Amino acid sequence: MSDTDFDVIVIGGGQAALALAYFLRRTDLSFLLLDAEEGPGGAWRHGWNSLRLFSPATWSSIPGWMMPPVTEGYPTRNHVIDYLASYEARYRIPVERPVRVTNVERLERFLRVHAEGRYWDARTVISATGTWSNPYIPQYPGAELFAGQQLHSARYVEAAPFAGKNVLVVGGGNSGAQILAEVSKVATTTWVTPQEPLFLPDDVDGRVLFERATERWKAQQEGRVIDQPVGGLGDIVMVPPVADARKRGVLHSVRPFERFTREGVVWPDGDESAVDVVIWCTGFKPALSHLDALGVMTDDGRVAVAGTHSIAEPRLWLVGYGEWTGSASATLIGVARTARSTVSEVETFLAAAQS
Ligand code: FAD
Repeated sequence: MSDTDFDVIVIGGGQAALALAYFLRRTDLSFLLLDAEEGPGGAWRHGWNSLRLFSPATWSSIPGWMMPPVTEGYPTRNHVIDYLASYEARYRIPVERPVRVTNVERLERFLRVHAEGRYWDARTVISATGTWSNPYIPQYPGAELFAGQQLHSARYVEAAPFAGKNVLVVGGGNSGAQILAEVSKVATTTWVTPQEPLFLPDDVDGRVLFERATERWKAQQEGRVIDQPVGGLGDIVMVPPVADARKRGVLHSVRPFERFTREGVVWPDGDESAVDVVIWCTGFKPALSHLDALGVMTDDGRVAVAGTHSIAEPRLWLVGYGEWTGSASATLIGVARTARSTVSEVETFLAAAQS
């Protein structure tokens, strides 16, 4: 095999890819990670300045090496980036970056992974490209008329630029609550959510949510049905800034506006509001455009999988995209389970193809 031929190519270099690499290095398979970023950390490199985990360091580790503890509160974005960078170095994980994969081509004996004029031939490919590079903004009538500023939470950095402005924060998840908490200190904010936001009890953080996700996963494996308290990953964890916003009486949301005008928005009762900025905290879709040519994409922008294994292309797996690729798989602590099972499936697949 040449130096561009591998048993496994992992597309992506974030937490999911590193968890896969941890298990791949324990096999005899040749593998390489191809990552679009300039440096380690995946999406965490693009989180806003004040972003913190919603679980303690000990509950935010990828396999093999615990995230170092922090002295106060939950780990910061930079602490996560440092951890992922040290992890990559500690396990001498083979990563080429920056390499943006543009296409995966189906050949007889290989999947050919193309990136900016280069290519690698792989007997199997695991896509671990996350969602952060594919922000989702819902369509509202008149959006093209609106003369104000619009940005997605993926591009939000800090509150200062919005001081003294009228800001709509749209979206009822952790991003919406945390950005509202921060911007409301310097601007006039209105929080728009499709339904009443679901706040988790103050003592429920990522640790509890992961325990519940594990209980659900175990019950699924054993064919049991369990009832759990309402609330799961994606519902609002009362991290300190959000708890402070509650004290300031900021955590009230309204249902969506009808349409945009040049100066602002029109509400269902016909009232109009002047708006300077809209911050879309409306989540993400899987970043999978590099798989388009394989013809495996479904209408909802995903890939039909059995676990993490593509049903249409047996040489392709997908890891880290959230519930449809495994319970809690889009979290640091949750991705290990499907990273381990995927590597074991790849090993079995390649051994069978060899025999
Ligand atoms: P990413 O971290 O997005 O990494 C994907 C990598 O693939 C990136 O480096 C990207 O550049 C690269 N890539 C993408 N496309 C290509 C391509 N075509 N070619 C090559 N490379 C490519 N999780 C937790 O565990 N705990 C938390 O407290 C937590 N808090 C969060 C708070 C917010 C506001 C958000 C939005 C998410 C939070 N998450 C948390 C989730 C976590 O940040 C993500 O789910 C996680 O980054 C996913 O890891 P990943 O490796 O799958 O994807």
